[in-house]
Parts: sequence; C-alpha cells; structure tokens
Amino acid sequence: MTGAGMSVESGIPTFRGKDGLWTRYGQPPMDGFKRFRADPVGWWQKQVNRQMDAHMVELRDALIAAEPHPGHHALTALEEAGALNHVITQNIDGLDLKAGLQNLIEIHGNRSRLRCLGCGERESLGDFVPVEPPEPCAECGDTVKFDTVMFGEPIPEDTMQAARAQIDLATCVVAIGTSASVRPASGLLWIAKSQGAKLIEINPFETKLTSICDVVVRATAGEALDQLAEIFATSAVQVSGDIAANE
Ligand code: NAD
Ligand code: ZN
Repeated sequence: MTGAGMSVESGIPTFRGKDGLWTRYGQPPMDGFKRFRADPVGWWQKQVNRQMDAHMVELRDALIAAEPHPGHHALTALEEAGALNHVITQNIDGLDLKAGLQNLIEIHGNRSRLRCLGCGERESLGDFVPVEPPEPCAECGDTVKFDTVMFGEPIPEDTMQAARAQIDLATCVVAIGTSASVRPASGLLWIAKSQGAKLIEINPFETKLTSICDVVVRATAGEALDQLAEIFATSAVQVSGDIAANE
C-alpha cells in the first residue's frame, strides 16, 4: 500500500510532514465533499478559474508536471518478477499506471478520470483539463465529479471491496510512504496484521504503524524499492531475509 510519500521523489508534496502542504498552508476544512454536493457547478467553476485553495493549486501543478521515479519503476519490475501481487495506492497521481503497473487499486481515485456519483460510471480524461463543469451523467443523470475521493466522501464500494479482497489474500503487506492515518484506507493495514500478514514499513520517518511492523526500512521509497527490485533481478531470494539484511 502506497501513500503520498511514494510520489515525493516525483516532485509531488505530501499533505502532512516536514514539507507537507498542510504544514505550510494549514489544514483545509474536512468537509470538501459536503461543499461540492451543496454547489457542484460553483465548485467546478472555481477549478476552471483556478480559484481553489492555494495548496490545491500547488498540488495540481505538481501533478501535471510529475513523472514516475525509480521507485515506481521498481514496483513494476517486482510485479513482473512475480514478487508483488497487487498495489493499493492512496495516491491520485496515476504514476503507477504510467510506470506500467498492471494490478493496481487506486483507493482514492485518479485525478485524470471523472466519476458519476449515481451509477459510478468512470470516464478517462487523459491529459484533458475540463474548462467547464461536466454535463450530468448520460446513464443516470446524476452529478459528475473528479474520480478523486474528497474529504468526507465515501470510498466507492467496488473499490473498497477490491482492496479488502487483496488484503484478505495477503501474506505480506508493504506500507510505503504513508502516514497510515487516512481512514478507512489505513485501517486495511491493521486488518492485514490481525489476519496474520507480515507488515513492512518503508518510510524515512516513524508513523502510527511503526510499532506493529515486522520490518521497518528507514529510507525513501525510491531508494528502498530500487534496491529491492535489484535484489529480485539478480537472484532468487527470500523477501524477508534480504530486506532485514538491508535495513
Ligand atoms: P501523508 O501526507 O499523510 O503522509 C506521507 C508519508 O510519506 C509520511 O509518513 C512521510 O514520512 C512519508 N514520506 C515523505 N517523504 C517520503 C519519501 N521520499 N519516501 C517514502 N515516504 C516518504 O500521506 P498519506 O498517508 O498518503 O495521506 C494523504 C492523502 O492525501 C492520501 O491518502 C492521498 O489520497 C492524498 N495525497 C495524494 C498525493 C498524490 O497523489 N501523490 C499527494 C498528496 C496527498
Ligand atoms: Zn451515472
């Protein structure tokens, strides 16, 4: 499971932490979805005219400029090597897909898609940036928003179920660049642990998860994953032994 720290080396800031957007701009109100629901057209007009909060403007510009870094490519290499079954990302940046990862659940959605709040129909925007509010859904007539899950918005049921199914299958979960504090996504890590999966944390800093992890790697996502992929590329090894040796 990856969080915002996974994409720091691609130039996308996190929310929390030392250089996080909230640390610099302050934490925004946590009722974004309620406000969107109250006035969807007004919300879209703010987006189009770049009148969003300053931290959202900074995040949007970083998302547009970002490219996958060696850590994203390492995840794809680990998948190709059969060492990684699935990635659940909390990120909305689409960098895992850009790096060629196949088995991916974007639990907080993807910024380059639209989603209907009624029937859940998703539509890819590619590089297109909407210049006016989208039409209501052609299927059911309900409101269309970015696929990105807003504060206060429930995670779409199909996505949550898919993520839970992967956690139920997991024998080992690696938490990469996540403060493990955004619920309900972070709760999946505790569920994995309670079901007997080994937990590995890759994060330069301590998190709420650290105390229950079996292995902790204090390194950036790019550094740690690049080395891990290198190990799998050069020899057939036991995951746990080699990560512990690298610590
Ligand atoms: P967070 O901001 O709460 O925590 C980020 C974590 O990354 C911290 O624990 C920090 O120590 C760690 N970190 C910082 N630099 C790192 C690096 N180079 N390598 C590895 N780890 C590093 O992030 P979160 O827990 O993912 O929660 C914030 C939510 O905001 C996410 O769920 C996501 O939906 C959204 N978000 C997404 C993006 C993105 O798409 N790239 C960016 C910002 C926020
Ligand atoms: Zn619909």
